Amino acid sequence: MFAHADLAVLLPTDGLSALLAALMRAGYRCIGPAVESGAIVLRELDGPDALPRGLQAAQAPGEYRLTTDPAKRYFAWANGPQALKPLNFAPQETLWQVGRDAAGALRFEAVVPVAPKLAVIGARACDLAALALQDAHFLRPERIDAHYAARRAGMFLVAVQCAVPASTCFCASTGDGPTPTTGFDIALAELPDGFVATAGSEAGRAVLASLNLVPASAQQIDAARAQGEAAAAAQTRRLPGRNLHDALMSRLEHPRWDEVAARCLACGNCTAVCPTCFCHAELDQPALDGASSRHERVWDSCFGESHGHLHGFNVRPDIRTRYRQWLTHKLAGWHEQFGRSGCTGCGRCIAWCPVGIDLTEEVAALTAGDAA
Ligand code: SF4
Ligand code: SF4
Repeated sequence: MFAHADLAVLLPTDGLSALLAALMRAGYRCIGPAVESGAIVLRELDGPDALPRGLQAAQAPGEYRLTTDPAKRYFAWANGPQALKPLNFAPQETLWQVGRDAAGALRFEAVVPVAPKLAVIGARACDLAALALQDAHFLRPERIDAHYAARRAGMFLVAVQCAVPASTCFCASTGDGPTPTTGFDIALAELPDGFVATAGSEAGRAVLASLNLVPASAQQIDAARAQGEAAAAAQTRRLPGRNLHDALMSRLEHPRWDEVAARCLACGNCTAVCPTCFCHAELDQPALDGASSRHERVWDSCFGESHGHLHGFNVRPDIRTRYRQWLTHKLAGWHEQFGRSGCTGCGRCIAWCPVGIDLTEEVAALTAGDAA
């Protein structure tokens, strides 16, 4: 984020309204953090006053609780249950529909969303890394997903450096945070005297230029860099390496899989909140009159019984094999598919697991004895 220090400008703390106004003038719908049901979620913003200020999010295995930020910062919370995933990969949507024409012949019709230009305020580094992984899956050249592509094309990302990581965060150990380095249009680091802002794209450069901001001082740039380093140093969880493929695949019969299976409810919360999970099911929804039908895609989870069901048998008949599938796909199989782990260290699967299963703890137990 601060590689081109000469391009960093200072957005005053009260300049967020001008930034939102500039984005709205440029035709973007603005989505940003809002408090709902005791958690920070992404919702449409009609102005900066809608942004929560002075909040932190205390997180621990199976716990998420909003607390107060004495410094009254806008972005002192680490993350909420939602990442960027639902904005592009909809939890439920119609892919195509079929009906009959006047002559009674079947007519199939693709249903591609008309997606507005969307500016997201407050994207975190772990979620930008997850978005790059979702792009690698849904936008692979040999099979571009039209629904994902339609939404993703109009997305403008205002990223924010995490200054206050949650206890569940471990993005420093996966190499994905806490300071955004790529994948954003504008990145902000919140300091007491304003936001150090850098552009990561031509679109971001144009928006910042329209605000007539002064360059950030060398001290402000150093403070932003130091803030990111301190946030990384404050993280207490970690994975023992960035490529655990061999370590995990050589332990498929480890007794720890039975231990975690005895605790796991197979609820699928971890896969729903994970910003990189992309498994889905496809369902047909016939109309009651039988004249038409919609073909829908819905998020699915490898923890569900039906996910492993093949003709005549189930490849993952118990929770042990489902948890093992999730962890080994995420941390091992993704290296073969995408050249890196599928975990960006956001910690959501830890906080939102109702029984507090901690992926970092499971990996540590499975790989105990290996050199770090
Ligand atoms: S596996 Fe867990 S920590 Fe890693 S990206 Fe998914 S939700 Fe976040
Ligand atoms: S690990 Fe936790 S969140 Fe995931 S399926 Fe099991 S109980 Fe649910």
